[in-house]
Amino acid sequence: MKRSLIRLFLIIVGLLIGIVLLAGAAELAVRFEPVTAPAPSVTGDYVQLAADERLFTLFAALNAAGYDEENYEQGFSDVRRTVRATLAEQSLPSLARLRPYLAMCRFIHVSQCATWVLQRGPAPDFARSVDGWAIRAPALLFLGFDRALADFYQEAGIAALWQTQQPAYAAEIERYRALVEPAVAEVFAYLRLTAPPTAGVRVLPNLLDAYWRGYGPHVGALSYVVMGPAIEPNVGLIQHEAMHPILNPLVDAHLDAIAQDEADRLFAALKPRVGAGYQNWPAILHESVIRAVEVRLADPTDRERLLLQEEAQGFPLVRPLAEQLAEYETSGATMATYLPTLLAVLNDVPID
Ligand SMILES: [Zn+2]
Repeated sequence: MKRSLIRLFLIIVGLLIGIVLLAGAAELAVRFEPVTAPAPSVTGDYVQLAADERLFTLFAALNAAGYDEENYEQGFSDVRRTVRATLAEQSLPSLARLRPYLAMCRFIHVSQCATWVLQRGPAPDFARSVDGWAIRAPALLFLGFDRALADFYQEAGIAALWQTQQPAYAAEIERYRALVEPAVAEVFAYLRLTAPPTAGVRVLPNLLDAYWRGYGPHVGALSYVVMGPAIEPNVGLIQHEAMHPILNPLVDAHLDAIAQDEADRLFAALKPRVGAGYQNWPAILHESVIRAVEVRLADPTDRERLLLQEEAQGFPLVRPLAEQLAEYETSGATMATYLPTLLAVLNDVPID
């Protein structure tokens, strides 16, 4: 009896060790997958607009699998409606294989899967084109995602669907053409950057996403602005997302400018008020600093309204940061050197 218990125990331990070893191997295989597709071009204008078939494929699959989030009361964009209707008419066994990955995307946040697809090369293969791992999730969760997406691409006829939607993407790019370069230049000038932070900014309209939704990943040498549809051109979103790859690492390097007990107190107070994408202290700080800069870039007569809006959305730190930025503006310092002073203002912020 005793001996069989010991044997059972050893079998369980052996199985657990096997599982851990397999998971470790999968993690390494995905994270360090060799780059076999060409890296994205970094020549030409610093800020470029482009229509991206990889993003289109990912978001077509997300929509087909029930990604229904929308901010606009009148509903989805025309492109999103058309693509969803076209895919709904088809029987797509490949979608069943994709579903666990798409559920994972929605669990960790779709922005993370947008980052992942921008690390891949062009359709139809989606081979790895950028090394490194820019995603806040274990790499092993993405094991086989590329092949499942490639199968979906073929089976759902995404190449043809993408062609039919080209006029809408071309019109969106035209609408923003004259706006993107000055918008990014204004942000860089405000932050007093001594050198551009990346080799280029790629602004990618994403008409299959919710209105006004955007992501600002930094992938390899480039930073991206992935932007959902908007009624009026959403220049604020471009500025916001262009700041993330610049300000996130700066904030992360100076978290100690805020005393630990103050940080703990503020995080505990704010965590329940902010959305699912901001459930850690650095994320709340990144967002608050970026929104404070946006307030300062806005017309002075509009600032109070924007601050009240931030407070209503659960970002009360925007106000003290924006007030401190007035001093930054007259200081002549670069944001890189001023940031500890800016963050230090949060050491005595009353939060009710
Ligand atoms: Zn943000």
